[in-house]
Amino acid sequence: MKVSRRGFINTLAAGAALSVLPKSIRANDISVKPSKDRFDPWLEIDPEALKYNVKQLYEQSGNRPVLAVVKNNGYGLGTENIASILEDMPEIAGFADVKTQSCISLRQGGVKKPILLMGMPSDNAYDSLVDGNIQVAIYTQDVLKNLTKAARGQQKVHDVHIYVDTGMSRMGVPYHKALPFVKEVNSNSSMKIIGSFMGFTEDADFDKEQLTKFVDLAKVAKDQSYSMGKLHAASSNAIFHFPQAALDMVRPGIGIYGAYPTYFKKEKEIKTLRVAYKLKARIVRVEQLRKGDGVSYGRNYIAEKPTWIATLPIGHADGYLRKAVGNAKVFINQKLYPVIGAVSASHTIIEIGDEEKVKIGDEAILVGPDHAEVHPNHLSDVTGVSVYDVLMHMNAQLPKIITTD
Ligand SMILES: *Cc1c(COP(=O)(O)O)cnc(C)c1O
Repeated sequence: MKVSRRGFINTLAAGAALSVLPKSIRANDISVKPSKDRFDPWLEIDPEALKYNVKQLYEQSGNRPVLAVVKNNGYGLGTENIASILEDMPEIAGFADVKTQSCISLRQGGVKKPILLMGMPSDNAYDSLVDGNIQVAIYTQDVLKNLTKAARGQQKVHDVHIYVDTGMSRMGVPYHKALPFVKEVNSNSSMKIIGSFMGFTEDADFDKEQLTKFVDLAKVAKDQSYSMGKLHAASSNAIFHFPQAALDMVRPGIGIYGAYPTYFKKEKEIKTLRVAYKLKARIVRVEQLRKGDGVSYGRNYIAEKPTWIATLPIGHADGYLRKAVGNAKVFINQKLYPVIGAVSASHTIIEIGDEEKVKIGDEAILVGPDHAEVHPNHLSDVTGVSVYDVLMHMNAQLPKIITTD
């Protein structure tokens, strides 16, 4: 598919709108700037926290360049927002994504640094990928053939990474078949291998075997004068728990956004990360229940005495957790209030207590750095929902504000 002209113009227009906004608050749509009279939930993104986390991960991996993973809508925060905030950092080597269109949009949006497509290229995208100088992870003959054809057509040598499967059995060329493939790509004059990579199963013992397989393969290739480019393997988990896997470059995702990947209490001790976003909504209803009144679908909560409650206009369709009920709290005016009843598609109800301590329009933080109990890893712990889901299941349409305070 050729780069859509219209998409390009829209991107330019969005870029132009951004630059006229006041420096303190930039939004990807000026009309969504939150104010007291606005009741749609939104996301606030803290660029300083994102940059801080990149530096922490860089340090933790012995100053290895960071190939920032921005897949799945930038872990919920907006792929293009993240790339534009991080691109100028010297620690950032480039960006990696899994979807073809997302990589192309990043390039159209003005990203100059390397972009790696780790997923299977869409059939009609090869010309655009070559045209946009988007590095492709190759592991099949078909991808190699199609990419070679596109590169020849444009008389270019295209940068590729060999994706090696060392035990994940998900993507990549199985390591025992990788050497002939590496040789073949080395002898293809339209391709340049600038990197080779693998992913860990995150089973601590097996990770070691995987790394050995990968490093051995690279050594055998090198001994035979075949290049595999820069080697990379470590995602956030390995950066924290398997420092020997840092190799030439690291490839973190979740850590950049400020959430810990695996054992957050332990990881917090190793290196601090700052939660780089806040999921927010404003109270739309405050009422006092009478004794015996129930709350929401299933009447899972019944007031034992007169009790104030409040409603937030955010629900599981926005990406807040259904399992927050009975487990999680939200933070309003420096106080925590428990989630009760049910989280429905667009609403969440909280218990305020004996006194009417909140009012319509008050701002609630459902996830963010503001209190330990709204930290994404805490929410993951108390709900049993993966921390990856806490971030990535946020609705991509949530308005996003980039703050600088
Ligand atoms: C998602 C992903 C990453 C980043 O993983 P995190 O656990 O979020 O740091 C790295 N490499 C590949 C291949 C991925 O799919």
